[in-house]
Amino acid sequence: MRELAVFYCPKCGHYAYYQTSRHPQCPKCCAPETMTMVRMHYTEFMKMTCEDRDEFLAGEILKTNPSLLKRLTEPHKRYNSREIIAEMNNVIMNLDTENKILSDTVKWMHDTIWEMMRENRIKSRAEAAATSIPPNEDKKEE
Ligand SMILES: [Zn+2]
Repeated sequence: MRELAVFYCPKCGHYAYYQTSRHPQCPKCCAPETMTMVRMHYTEFMKMTCEDRDEFLAGEILKTNPSLLKRLTEPHKRYNSREIIAEMNNVIMNLDTENKILSDTVKWMHDTIWEMMRENRIKSRAEAAATSIPPNEDKKEE
């Protein structure tokens, strides 16, 4: 039996115990990247309180994003939490806008496809009418 190890997901913060031979994917957010192994024996990790685990993993996650860590620990407090929140808010708003554009595009494509189908139907009806035998003409054999 292989040793257990603690793995955490840098995307959502979920952690779990796995055998070290496995490269688990996060079952919570299904991020495509595999979870990261905690460099600490799982028994030590288990001994920590929930708050300590949170703090420890928060530190680990911050290490994966050096620019965020730099901002949070900026000595001159150039970046404060208000600015970070405002920045995150901007990111979210940009994502919302992008999402709106995408859904507008989908709607436009949907409308265009329906329009094309409608035109095709009219056209094929017209063609069918043009090739069909007019009622008052003599019957032609094929
Ligand atoms: Zn995750």
